[in-house]
Amino acid sequence: MIKGTTDVYGLIGDPVGHSFSPFIHNMLAEALSENMAYVAFHVKENQLEHAMAGLKGLSIKGANVTVPYKVDVISYLDYVDDMAKAIGAVNTIKLDNNELVGYNTDWIGLLKALKEIKINLRDKSILIIGAGGAARAVGMMCAHEGAGHIAITNRTQANAEKLAKLINRHYDVSTEVIPLEDLKERNDLVIAFQTTPIGMYPHSANNPIYETKFYETLEVAVDLIYNPLETHFLREAREAGAITMNGMGMLFHQAIAAFELWRECTIDDGTKKRCYQAFLQQMTK
Ligand code: NAP
Repeated sequence: MIKGTTDVYGLIGDPVGHSFSPFIHNMLAEALSENMAYVAFHVKENQLEHAMAGLKGLSIKGANVTVPYKVDVISYLDYVDDMAKAIGAVNTIKLDNNELVGYNTDWIGLLKALKEIKINLRDKSILIIGAGGAARAVGMMCAHEGAGHIAITNRTQANAEKLAKLINRHYDVSTEVIPLEDLKERNDLVIAFQTTPIGMYPHSANNPIYETKFYETLEVAVDLIYNPLETHFLREAREAGAITMNGMGMLFHQAIAAFELWRECTIDDGTKKRCYQAFLQQMTK
């Protein structure tokens, strides 16, 4: 029940109506009897500055940030944690002693989802398809986890080069920019992260890599997309024998990580499992 003492959290984005974050956070709050409520704040164009002042002014305890504000929001924060700063994107804000502190839980969420299915990135040769905001979180996560080699392919090669440079500014790992058409010649890239919107509903027939030879030596394929649950990319990989993972786990675990940051708690495995099942049901309704 909402009371005079209820802590308020929210989502900042444009649009926000489709988001599952209110469902996840209010479900977690109820499951853990936390005195909080989470709502979606539709922040329209040119209103970000007002929205950020509003967070402080109204003592909103924390917020998630989604498209298109993950980068722009940084200039309104008092502190940004090191990994979020390196990635260059913030998806979680916490009000701490009246200061707005920014975090990135996307990379943490993806890492937790990978660990759940026992995927280890250490010393692995990895391909990242795409070089946008999500790819930056993936690339930094791979380097943080001790990847052996990181190859990046992207429609705009200059953006792939920027991502390789960003990774190498922070980690001593071998990186490479590779044109899409050269991938069929490669059998050393054993884990692939698909981070572009290619294959997302309603364009589910699309795939960044149609070359079937590429999938033959792939051991693990991850697609950040969660609608559809199995993209064309993941289907090709699964049929060629790879372990596959869609973006649902990442989405759920980035929320868990934000919740734990805000409430300064550790959510037990039983609650996580029950809430994940309820989340899956809600997503596939
Ligand atoms: P972004 O910053 O806009 O980057 C998009 C990337 O995809 C860029 O590398 C872009 O290439 C490439 N791209 C876009 N359209 C393309 C096309 N038609 N053909 C070839 N390449 C194309 O977006 P983002 O924030 O990284 O998000 C990317 C995807 O990740 C989205 O589908 C999003 O839903 C998903 N995501 C999922 C989660 C999760 O929790 N599961 C979290 C974050 C993001 P250029 O450099 O050439 O423009």
